[in-house]
Order: sequence, then structure tokens, then C-alpha cells
Amino acid sequence: MRNPLAPPCEPPYLPSVGAVLLDGKRLAEKIQSDLRTRIAARGAPPPHLCVIQTVPAPASQVYARQLARACQEIGMTFSVRPLGEDLTGAALAEAIRETCEETTVCGVILQMPIPPSIDPHEIRIHIERRKDVERINPTNLGFVVYANPSLAPCTAMAVMELIALTGRDLRGAEAVVVGHSEIVGKPIALLLLDRLATVTVCHVGTRDLAAHTRRADILVVAVGRPALVTRDMIKPGAVVLDVGVNRVGPEGETRLVGDVAGDVCDVAGHLTPVPGGVGPVTVAMMLRNTVLAWEAAAGRTG
Ligand code: NAP
Repeated sequence: MRNPLAPPCEPPYLPSVGAVLLDGKRLAEKIQSDLRTRIAARGAPPPHLCVIQTVPAPASQVYARQLARACQEIGMTFSVRPLGEDLTGAALAEAIRETCEETTVCGVILQMPIPPSIDPHEIRIHIERRKDVERINPTNLGFVVYANPSLAPCTAMAVMELIALTGRDLRGAEAVVVGHSEIVGKPIALLLLDRLATVTVCHVGTRDLAAHTRRADILVVAVGRPALVTRDMIKPGAVVLDVGVNRVGPEGETRLVGDVAGDVCDVAGHLTPVPGGVGPVTVAMMLRNTVLAWEAAAGRTG
């Protein structure tokens, strides 16, 4: 029977056996409910997550509102530090350091985009390692190479949490990651490698993308291009993690889709929906990292 929760498949394909949906929303709720309990049990003052904003892009405002709501639901303090766009790299670095020095702040997020004159690689160094809850500081990224999965960027951790729901043994599995960005594709590839999967990373230079994706027991797609991966590119029964988030449709009627076409649900064994798959778990990972930083700081101060 086709999974009734499966996303609609595009014609001309008629669904036969639907993929099992990996429900990221439900997993995130479970993780956040555990965090709420941990915060309530320890008592005041609760952990504080601070978002530093420079360029006030509409998507950033939406994201900040979502984070604020999630923090409120679990009893965490949330704040935004708006800095404006006319900012030098030195001024932004100073503001990041100041925020990190605030003892009540346990997690700091530097929201993208930042002014184009500032190098994101250089600036991320200033987010104090223990308060870098997105895990984008180069030191934390470096620890992923040392096989420390708890210091991996949140989206990479979210992908691993969702794969764990399937119960698949990763040892020896053929894993294919499409996209090789620094905070998504590359760390995901490293985490899969750490679990002894045989990992192939595809990118703009890949000659025959379908030849690789068709071999994948585990397929992670993180590019930002709607319908890049279609039904004919999937090994039957594969676990497909769709990380991409794309807004499609005419002005006023836009909707969110991933990088994987709707008809993939006919062939895959497991599939993450968009929205409701990797995104909510990524947010839950960020909240969990903030709570861990708060618990660790409380441990250090007795
Ligand atoms: P990114 O930095 O733009 O990276 C995209 C990657 O895809 C790059 O490595 C790029 O290669 C590669 N690529 C481009 N065209 C390709 C093609 N035709 N075939 C194979 N690879 C191709 O984006 P990102 O930050 O990794 O994010 C990727 C997607 O995931 C976006 O849609 C983003 O919105 C989404 N995302 C979702 C979450 C979540 O929580 N759900 C979190 C983060 C990101 P080159 O660099 O060589 O061009």
C-alpha cells in the first residue's frame, strides 16, 4: 500500500508502493519535548540563544521568528542582536566576541547573509567554540574530521538522526552525497564515512550524476535545485534525504519543494518530505546544542 502521508507524485507516474516518510517534524517535537523537560528540571535562569543579524533579509526575519517560537515552546530565552548593514569585519568580530562573553548567553548564531565585504570564513572564527551552536566555527568543523559527530553542523547531524530512524546499518552501505558545501555536503560525507559507509560525493564537476545516484543505498541531496533528482535516478528501496529548500511557483502562490522530484516516492524505501523533513530536525539540533552548552557551563561553575 502506498504511504498515505507520501507527497503527491507528479504525473505521468502512478504510485505503486510509496516510500516510508521520515517525519522530521515529529522527530523534532520529540527532541524538543526532552529539552523542555531538561530545562524545567534544572530551573532558572534558562539557556539563552542569541541571533546576530546584519543584513535584514526577509528570509532571515522569518527564520528568526521560527526560532523565537521554538525557544519559547521549550522555555529557552531568545534574543536578536541587530547590527545593521554598514558594518566592517572588525566591528562585526567585536560584536560577536562581546555577545559570546555574556555569561547568560549559551548559544550564538550569526545569521546569513552578512555584508558581502565580510569574509564568512574569517568571521566565523570569532564565534566562541562552545557557544557555536550551529557548529560552523572552523575548529568545530575540524573536529568532524577527527570523527567527533557531536561537533558537526546541525544539518549534517539532522541527516544522521533521520537515517537512524530507518534502522539501516551504514557499514558497507553505498552512500552518495550530492552537493559539497562546507556546512552541509562535506560534513555529511565525513559523518557517513565515520560510520564506515562507502561514500561518493557528487558536485558540479560530476560527469554522470545518475550513474552515481542509482548505486546509492543512502542518497543525500543538498544542492538547492528543484527536481535535480528524479525517479529514474533512484535505486529501488534507497533511503533518500532531501536537504534542498526551494521556493517555486508564481508570486503570491509560492510553495516549498526540495531537490528531489515528487515521483521519487514511488521508488525510494524511505524519503524525507520538504517541508517537514530535515529542516525541523536541524532547528532541534541547534536547540539541543544550546541546552548542552548551558548544562556544560552549569557543570563548570558548579
Ligand atoms: P550551497 O552552498 O549553494 O551548495 C550547493 C552545492 O551543490 C555546491 O556544493 C554546488 O557545487 C553543488 N551543485 C550545484 N549544482 C549542482 C549540480 N547540478 N549537481 C551536483 N551538485 C551541484 O548550498 P548549501 O548551503 O549546501 O544548501 C544546499 C540546499 O540545502 C539549499 O537548497 C539550502 O536551502 C538547503 N539547506 C537546507 C537546510 C535544512 O535545514 N533543511 C539547511 C541548510 C541548507 P559548487 O559549489 O561546485 O557549485
